[in-house]
Amino acid sequence: MRVTLLSGGTGGAKLARGLLDVTGAAGLTVIANTGDDTEIYGVHVSPDPDLITYWLADAIDERGYGIRGDSWEVMSALEAAGRPVWFRLGDRDLAMCLIRTELLGAGERLTDAHAAVVRAMGVEARVLPMTDEPVRTRVTARGRALPFQEFMVAERAVGPIENVEFAGAEAARPTAEVLAAIATADVIVIGPSNPVVSIGPILALAGMREALAAARAPVVAVSPFVGGAVLKGPTALFCEHAGIELRAGGLLDAYEGLLDGMVADEPVAGLASLEVDTLMASPEARRSLATMTLEFAASLGRRRPTSG
Ligand code: GDP
Repeated sequence: MRVTLLSGGTGGAKLARGLLDVTGAAGLTVIANTGDDTEIYGVHVSPDPDLITYWLADAIDERGYGIRGDSWEVMSALEAAGRPVWFRLGDRDLAMCLIRTELLGAGERLTDAHAAVVRAMGVEARVLPMTDEPVRTRVTARGRALPFQEFMVAERAVGPIENVEFAGAEAARPTAEVLAAIATADVIVIGPSNPVVSIGPILALAGMREALAAARAPVVAVSPFVGGAVLKGPTALFCEHAGIELRAGGLLDAYEGLLDGMVADEPVAGLASLEVDTLMASPEARRSLATMTLEFAASLGRRRPTSG
């Protein structure tokens, strides 16, 4: 079975790890948000593609980002030199960014540059940046427009948020690899990621919604809301800005016209749904949610009206 997952770096990445157990590496393609990408310390950082890759490699640190057991020599040296180190990259994490940056500098596409990181981490599943073109999420809060990482890390994500912009998204196209993964999938899953700043940039790409709507596979979303709340991170802040209620039903507008079904820990009106425990706190829970999601999707088939 070929499964294509749309994902940010936390909830979606955990589900990616569960799916890997079920489909095997050959059956899994993850389409990763690159709206959080940034350039810092001379390297191109791709937070979501990297987190997904570290999860798939069983190398994710308990902090929820970076590589487990990483050292911090480079950050310490920069700090000692009086350089700002508000964005902390461990040494091995930085090495992965160096691999990517060197290949980009040699003229390779982001897709191929990230594929080298995936190989370096020993991961055989595919982790595809959503586009090779630059898309940069910018957040305006308290009167200041900031790049996403600066808002999140340097400003500690203090709202209220006044505006969210995916600069470049309208002109950026999904890659040929992304479009093929959507067209040839047996099941498409929208992961339990932040609907505004993780899935939002993916859906904002030129032609992306159309590609999903035209896919032959059923499309199911897994809700990121557990017990009517957000588990971790700034999802609530962004949903508040976007007018998305923290319930599975709150996602219906954001994903309008795309879904055949929804997996959530609560009933969902107006759409085929599977009500199960969606907390992925252990390998077993991740695998079990992946299995149930794929069985549910297979039972649905494709229900959306054919577009065009
Ligand atoms: P980010 O890119 O690091 O912000 O991560 P994502 O956008 O991929 O994921 C953030 C979302 O993951 C939050 O809304 C969390 O509620 C959700 N999440 C985290 N862990 C779990 C889990 O175990 N189950 C579910 N269903 N959602 C989760």
